[in-house]
Amino acid sequence: MIERIGSKSELRAAVTQARREGRGIGFVPTMGALHDGHISLVRAARERSGFVVVSVFVNPTQFAAGEDFERYPRDLEQDLALLAAENVDVVFTPSEATMYGKDPQITVDPGPLARRWEGEVRPGHFTGVATIVTKLLNIVDADIAFFGEKDYQQLKIVEHIAADLDFRTQIAPCPIIRDHDGLALSSRNRYLSAEERRTALNIPAALDAACNSVAWGERDADEVVSAMREALDAAGEGLTLDYAAVVDTRTLEPVSRIEGAARAIIAARVGATRLIDNCELAPVEPPATGGTDAD
Ligand code: AMP
Repeated sequence: MIERIGSKSELRAAVTQARREGRGIGFVPTMGALHDGHISLVRAARERSGFVVVSVFVNPTQFAAGEDFERYPRDLEQDLALLAAENVDVVFTPSEATMYGKDPQITVDPGPLARRWEGEVRPGHFTGVATIVTKLLNIVDADIAFFGEKDYQQLKIVEHIAADLDFRTQIAPCPIIRDHDGLALSSRNRYLSAEERRTALNIPAALDAACNSVAWGERDADEVVSAMREALDAAGEGLTLDYAAVVDTRTLEPVSRIEGAARAIIAARVGATRLIDNCELAPVEPPATGGTDAD
């Protein structure tokens, strides 16, 4: 039976009890409006843990002024039904007052990884993310917490929070889940009209172009970015690009040559909806010539 808990102390008690029973704790933090991307994280948690906690909390501090906090989709009844169907043990649904209390003063500095990209376009966003993730990791004290690669910069910051601040929780990255047409699943996709959705498909198309160009041997990051921009330009005026870049997976700094692990990242606005997506760029070395056959 799925249990819904709103208080921190009750949540801690439920986790303590599960741990006493010898169950490993898996945790999936979300902002609700769940889709198959979230469910993939829940399934990974279910596979690897005896006790699964999912939080549903639309965190106000990670929305900048003028962003969509007020209209962010909320559908708790449906979320609870979806999570019950996945055999989740506890859904943590704290109120804003429960989460932040009356007079919060301390925030978590997300450090240099937060400077560029989303951090630049959305001032304060990662301070809000780092603070809420730190609080949730503290409250749940899970063995493993599951985060999607869809929010790649967030994932990298969260990995550092866990490592640098000595959480015992291990961070497990999970691959991006896409819709049948290639668009990465996002709670914000429901804002898109049919026409905007067609326009938005230029984002995964641009990522495909980047992957293909690397697969064909391109190693110059500027050329890969040009391939992405060309695909994005095809969207016309309906799409406004915030950034398209090729970055080092460790530092998130732009690379000039694609030699080690790199990631193509894109953020764009389609109408009033802001979308982000990314993909791995894996340079595969051509097979050594000359062969071993003695002919
Ligand atoms: P959110 O509810 O948007 O805060 O997302 C909660 C978690 O789900 C984060 O770790 C996201 O990266 C992850 N997530 C969101 N969309 C996807 C997706 N399409 N594929 C995989 N993970 C996702």
